[in-house]
Amino acid sequence: MSDVLLRLERLEVVYHRVITAVQGVSLEVPRSGIVALLGTNGAGKTTTLRAISGFIGLDDARVTEGAIVYGGSRIENRAPHRITAHGIALVPERSKVFENLSVAENLEAVVPRPGADRRRLAESIYELFPALARLRAREAGYLSGGERQMLAIGSALACAPDLLLVDELSQGLAPVIVEELVGRLRRVRAELGTTILLVEQNAHVALDVADYGYVMENGRVVLDGTPERLRAHADIQEFYLGAGGGERRRSYREVKQYRRSRRWYG
Ligand code: ATP
Repeated sequence: MSDVLLRLERLEVVYHRVITAVQGVSLEVPRSGIVALLGTNGAGKTTTLRAISGFIGLDDARVTEGAIVYGGSRIENRAPHRITAHGIALVPERSKVFENLSVAENLEAVVPRPGADRRRLAESIYELFPALARLRAREAGYLSGGERQMLAIGSALACAPDLLLVDELSQGLAPVIVEELVGRLRRVRAELGTTILLVEQNAHVALDVADYGYVMENGRVVLDGTPERLRAHADIQEFYLGAGGGERRRSYREVKQYRRSRRWYG
């Protein structure tokens, strides 16, 4: 049996006491694994990551059912700084860096977990991202999208996490930059042993880097499997991997309904 670092058990998350964004989500992230959470807009991926990292509290949301079990302890509804101290760091979808601070100051602004060697951490971050070393003195507001994403990942790694949560690695970036970032994430796992849970709308990217994937729709997990299994799945090919002959991207539910109607009437 694999060593599970993070387990979500029938998780439910509600915004403003009325809007249920995540319903009955269960998933597992093995230690030193890379797991992807896929899904279209509004599926509940960001909410799931923010629930794990504790940031949903800032969005007036709460875990109302189920459990988040990390390293054997329940952590749902804890404050973000307590969760960071446990070894979980989030690379958020937006507001990734302090724009008025330099690259070096951004990294120095992070408070690492107790006992972490700040100097060695900084060295390994600059080794993993040589571009950040070259741009040390540059104000973060002047960085390109790819450099900003590197700094955001670097800042999260400066917390010395065991689990890195990455929200939309590829968003708004050119394919060549995304490929480079994917390579860096692989090195983060290989060299630092960090476990990674990655949220992605881009299925090609997610299935390229992950060992295992979960697909979310309307707040629920509708499918999961290895990249090979997910790539081979007709519905994933049709509505995520663009094998549907250029039709607009449909939801998993729509594809299911379409298939059923073809069976009945066709
Ligand atoms: P995207 O890729 O577009 O960010 P997502 O899969 O990450 O999509 P979420 O952002 O988690 O999806 O949104 C899930 C649901 O929760 C959506 O219906 C969304 O409208 C709702 N939601 C998200 N944030 C809030 C908020 N602050 N208040 C109320 N509802 C919210």
